Amino acid sequence: MRAFEATQIFFDEAAERLKIDPAMREALLMPDREIQVQVSIEMDDGKLANFIGFRVQHDNARGPMKGGLRFHPQVDLDEVRALACLMTWKTAVVNLPYGGAKGGIGVDPSRLSQPELQRLTRSLADAIHDVVGPDTDIPAPDMGTDFQIMSWFRNQWEKYHGFNPAVITGKPVEEYGARGREEATGRGVGTLTLKLTRRLGLKPDKAKTAIQGFGNVGTHAAKFLNEAEFPIIAVSDITGTYYKSTGLNIPEIMRHKMKHPKGLLEGYNECEVLPVDALLTLPDAAVLIPAAVGGIITEENVDEIHAKVIVEAANGPIVPAADKILNQREVHILPDILANAGGVTVSYFEWVQNRQHYRWSLDRVRQELDHTMNEAFETVWETSNQHEVSLRTAAYMIGIARVHRATELAGLTG
Ligand code: NAD
Repeated sequence: MRAFEATQIFFDEAAERLKIDPAMREALLMPDREIQVQVSIEMDDGKLANFIGFRVQHDNARGPMKGGLRFHPQVDLDEVRALACLMTWKTAVVNLPYGGAKGGIGVDPSRLSQPELQRLTRSLADAIHDVVGPDTDIPAPDMGTDFQIMSWFRNQWEKYHGFNPAVITGKPVEEYGARGREEATGRGVGTLTLKLTRRLGLKPDKAKTAIQGFGNVGTHAAKFLNEAEFPIIAVSDITGTYYKSTGLNIPEIMRHKMKHPKGLLEGYNECEVLPVDALLTLPDAAVLIPAAVGGIITEENVDEIHAKVIVEAANGPIVPAADKILNQREVHILPDILANAGGVTVSYFEWVQNRQHYRWSLDRVRQELDHTMNEAFETVWETSNQHEVSLRTAAYMIGIARVHRATELAGLTG
């Protein structure tokens, strides 16, 4: 199943409960604008290389569109469309004054040198600079992109439009970035994992946790949960699953990753090393946090998943058919549009600071992030109980209802 079709299934279930009529559903689901661009660069060896870039602007009923830029070989129009759509419901669930968008390039950034990556980013900015901006559509980091790429993008955009750091978020802290942005998604995931497990009566020291993906989100979630005394029994990246039944030494494994030339776990041998996919099906993990790619829990492997709690740090890690089975088994799933909203929340704080030429302290950022995430969690939890639906359907109902209301207020009724 393609990614957008999966998103549509979750959307339809919530829209049905909200009794939104078919034409309005179509209007809410259909992206406002889809852009596909040629991104051609000269490689270090002098040869020409061509890539395809995308920006999908899904909806702006609640404010300027917001969403990351992903550099990954699997990026295509369908995936970007699905992710843009998720951003619309995500910004609405946490009640930010934004719509949703997403972009990216089908490329493996680990195969490019830094100068090539810079040329690629600037070429993308050349191609889409006239459709993004602080009041229209504000990009941010996602898989395969980081603060350096945000900085190059901003610099290139400003060559056309003049100084305005609010055009992009996730910038370096010393270049108008927000303190706490880098940790924000992982911290939000950690905060809500703690909240959900407490609500379910699962004590942190009994909640053995496995985290798939040890990039930006996975490392910060691991750090937060380790400090909250969750035993992190496994983490993984593209090089394998690193497992210790009594709990890994997270500070040590983070130091190892920092020293590795490509930021990988490869070579860490203070624990068992298992195949990459083994992480998902560990029999002793009570909490599973997918924090890598989408579509990894499917009909094929769902019966081998033992976790009682799944927190979707990644976007779209569970396909709808597997989601249905997990719901029947009463596995508690904290959906992506709520679980990983910490990143876009602190991106919003960064944008606000840029527009006011003012800097918040790290304490303030964390305090406001925790407040926003906790409030969104409570609303979703209450809706889930009130309507006797899963947390995912509850989160979609809240997001869709808010976007629907804004659409109607703007004059499009149905
Ligand atoms: P990243 O590129 O920093 O890290 C990705 C990690 O996943 C790497 O450790 C990589 O080795 C690993 N990985 C890739 N494929 C894997 C596989 N099949 N099995 C195990 N590990 C694998 O990316 P990130 O920014 O941490 O994003 C991770 C997920 O979180 C993505 O789905 C992204 O859309 C989502 N997300 C990120 C943010 C953010 O602020 N960065 C915000 C919201 C959602």
